[in-house]
Amino acid sequence: MTDVLVIGDGPGGLSAALFLAKNGMNVVVHGQDKTAMHAALLRNYLGIPEILGSDFQAVARQQVAALGAKVLGTRVEALAKQGDVFQATLEDGAVVRARYVILSEGKSPRLAQMLGLSHDAATGLATDKNGRTAVAGVYAVGRSTRPGRSQAIISAGDGAAAAIDILSLEKGESVTDWDSPPEAG
Ligand SMILES: Cc1cc2nc3c(=O)[nH]c(=O)nc-3n(C[C@H](O)[C@H](O)[C@H](O)COP(=O)(O)OP(=O)(O)OC[C@H]3O[C@@H](n4cnc5c(N)ncnc54)[C@H](O)[C@@H]3O)c2cc1C
Repeated sequence: MTDVLVIGDGPGGLSAALFLAKNGMNVVVHGQDKTAMHAALLRNYLGIPEILGSDFQAVARQQVAALGAKVLGTRVEALAKQGDVFQATLEDGAVVRARYVILSEGKSPRLAQMLGLSHDAATGLATDKNGRTAVAGVYAVGRSTRPGRSQAIISAGDGAAAAIDILSLEKGESVTDWDSPPEAG
């Protein structure tokens, strides 16, 4: 069983996967690289003066995979919760299981609604500040939670917050993911 199933491979899902994989969790991302980022020229992502959305995505996918997450080109067709475990049915009929789910479905959060979460066209899916939804173990991040105000850097931040919340739950205390430069020789 996977620790965390991330559904959606835009900046929200990939950022969540980065933090989780970097901190040793077993993560699988499902998405077919159909993100709105392919229509974007990013000039508002702090730290990156300008980059094509497609180039950003290519770097991000590679970065996340290099940290140990599996990034698969599969569409998830159905999602259900059975006890404390989530079951996702993939497009080929295979069923995968996970302890947590992070939904970063973008514009149309179909799977979130399948789990019983309500989606308001104006305000999106309801979450707390860490992306927790009304279903325990399910997080929603990015565009689906703020329609009309969707920005890549915000989706990435949402994904990071959800991942840190899961890492903190697992550890039983608040986690920060901080690195420092090597000591000057
Ligand atoms: C024309 C245009 C220009 C833009 N320009 C900018 C810009 O300059 N700066 C900026 O910050 N933002 C820009 N954006 C917005 C930016 O693209 C979004 O903010 C960002 O893509 C949102 O990221 P996300 O991860 O929340 O969702 P998305 O990027 O929408 O990712 C969702 C992903 O989930 C996948 N998915 C959904 N359901 C499933 C499923 N069941 N199984 C598997 N995969 C699934 C989708 O295929 C998609 O790849 C632009 C958008 C457009 C359309």
